[in-house]
Amino acid sequence: MSELSTKEITYLAGVGPKKAEVLKQELKIQSYEDLLYHFPYKYVDRSRTFKIREISSTSSHIQLQGKVIGLNKVGSGKSERLVAKFADDTGVIELVWFKFIKQIKGNLDANAEYIIFGKPTKFNQSYNIVHPEMEKVDESKPKVTAGLQAFYHTTERMKKGYLNSKGIQKMQESIFLSFKGAISETLPAYIVQQYKLMILDQALRTVHFPPDSQALQQAQFRLKFEELFYIQLSILKLKNQRSRSIKGHIFATVGDYFNHFFFNNLPFELTGAQKRVIREIRNDVGSGRQMNRLLQGDVGSGKTMVALMVMLIALDNNYQACLMAPTEILASQHFESILELLKGMDLNVKLLTGSSKKKEREQIHAELLSGELQILIGTHALLENIVQFKNLGMVIIDEQHRFGVAQRAKLWAKNTIPPHVLVMTATPIPRTLAMTVYGDLDVSVIDELPPGRKPIETKHYFHNKRNNLNHFIKAEIEKGRQIYVVYPLIEESEKMDFKNLAEGLEYMQSAFPDYKTTMVHGKMKPAEKDAAMQEFACGDAQILVATTVIEVGVNVPNASVMIIESAERFGLSQLHQLRGRVGRGAEQSYCILMTGYKLGEDTKKRMGIMVDSNDGFEIAEADMKLRGPGDLEGTQQSGLPFELKIANITRDAQLLQHARNVANAILDNDPTLEKPENQVLNKQLTKLARQKMNWSLIS
Ligand code: ADP
Ligand code: MG
Repeated sequence: MSELSTKEITYLAGVGPKKAEVLKQELKIQSYEDLLYHFPYKYVDRSRTFKIREISSTSSHIQLQGKVIGLNKVGSGKSERLVAKFADDTGVIELVWFKFIKQIKGNLDANAEYIIFGKPTKFNQSYNIVHPEMEKVDESKPKVTAGLQAFYHTTERMKKGYLNSKGIQKMQESIFLSFKGAISETLPAYIVQQYKLMILDQALRTVHFPPDSQALQQAQFRLKFEELFYIQLSILKLKNQRSRSIKGHIFATVGDYFNHFFFNNLPFELTGAQKRVIREIRNDVGSGRQMNRLLQGDVGSGKTMVALMVMLIALDNNYQACLMAPTEILASQHFESILELLKGMDLNVKLLTGSSKKKEREQIHAELLSGELQILIGTHALLENIVQFKNLGMVIIDEQHRFGVAQRAKLWAKNTIPPHVLVMTATPIPRTLAMTVYGDLDVSVIDELPPGRKPIETKHYFHNKRNNLNHFIKAEIEKGRQIYVVYPLIEESEKMDFKNLAEGLEYMQSAFPDYKTTMVHGKMKPAEKDAAMQEFACGDAQILVATTVIEVGVNVPNASVMIIESAERFGLSQLHQLRGRVGRGAEQSYCILMTGYKLGEDTKKRMGIMVDSNDGFEIAEADMKLRGPGDLEGTQQSGLPFELKIANITRDAQLLQHARNVANAILDNDPTLEKPENQVLNKQLTKLARQKMNWSLIS
């Protein structure tokens, strides 16, 4: 294979420097190997010859056999074209050429039988095929075009340089013709045998020139498996290395703090999922390895309680703990609710944010160093160098996607032995994506909501329903409920958003003069923000007009209606997050998506998904399908650190899991990949590392 990766495409028969340059610029293809790994995006069955009678509006590319029974040049100038009548024993269709008219006219043989190939389109009640591929039937030769024909992505610029799909196919063919001997295998022989995989040489030939669909499937399986397998192998190898070289604190006991809390303070029974996750974490922190765990749980699934109880285990083992949240509102909410939960327990818990006073700060710094301060809750302020702990054992990061990887690393560095890290996210990253992007973290999932929650009813309204909406709001407030109204925020135009928001506030105030409407947005001073939130949280204000600052974590159980204005401007995950602000109490809750009339197809789909589903994972999967994994909220910072050529993490989820299991089994046997039979693995990993993968992004 190495030979293929160094052979430049310029030297392939029929390519030359010009086409090579186009291939390089358009598809980043430089070597024989690059071209072989430019896979077809679809196939058309040419093993079957259709009858003209069978053509229907759903036909894609098809193959016909018959004779040319008439030929005419029609039109002139730009609309000049050559039209042929083509017949078999069931009917007649037209073939049309706009270019190469002379050559074709000269070459067509009226007595010969042809096999033609192309996509029929309907025109004036009958079908025609534009620029068909044609080939004389020659009984003495085997058919050149049997089996499935591959189609390759090309670009406009390539087509101009005569590099269409057919051209690419020819180039693939010349590689196989010019390359003597077999392409060397890139998986260990025992893996190929054990999983009955097609060998690489055959898989590459088959994927470009499949004799039939069964062989094609086997070839695709092999290539997809290999792609996913190497990604998993490199992630897992890295993870193993880290867990071998980094020791973790051992939390040997569950002691008084935890037990006292459990028996006296816990206000409700934990859900099965919460219990399971706490057990998983206890296993980690007792193992001597450093925990790096991602806790996923839909909004309202009760992650905070898990965080608190895990912090108490750290305290029971004489360590300090901290909880970091992405916004001041959220940090102070955590602080308030945790203080409330810990009532009656003699614990030192403090809040540190950007707006903490100097004196407070100094006291916190001192108490952290002396070890008096047991639990610190806060924002990014926790990351400052001056914040040093005596013995930090447990770090909880709420709402992962707001924090970069570098910031996580900063927290680790606050101790010689790094603390255990639990990263909590309500952006439900689909499992398959988590396995690739966060493949080095262990994943726990809270897949159960606390009992008694009623699913939120979601409706999509156009502006003409505003009166109905106002009646509805009034009725809910009369029942004692509270209302959120959220306006979008676009960073490039803060002014305009503020205008939206200010107008929204004014509108609500004039539409509901008997009730109190308050407002929060990102640009308010923390104290003002706090005051407004407080007003809403304690029920003095019935309506809260806000930007997405309330997207994350805010908890006012009495609020039962979430109105999202200009909902078309939000992504699916964000809509789901916002909706999660209601449905936290026992009352029936509602989410109303307000949009304009003119909506694109994708937006309609997004609204439809929101109306139909309350399940964050389902929504995340749908989001991934709509937008592609690279764009998924929550993964933007890390991105996909690699490009998949053939596998698809949504469609090939099962294969991904399988590939991960195989990689794990190999590393269990040979953690550093030293055995002779695994050398090919090392070689491939090195090669991949040299390519565009940037594993340092995740960790
Ligand atoms: P999230 O996972 O979105 O952070 P929270 O931790 O804020 O969710 O919990 C949402 C609400 O559910 C809180 O009011 C919390 O007290 C409550 N809650 C958490 N666990 C349970 C449980 N096991 N039973 C009943 N209510 C619970
Ligand atoms: Mg939360």
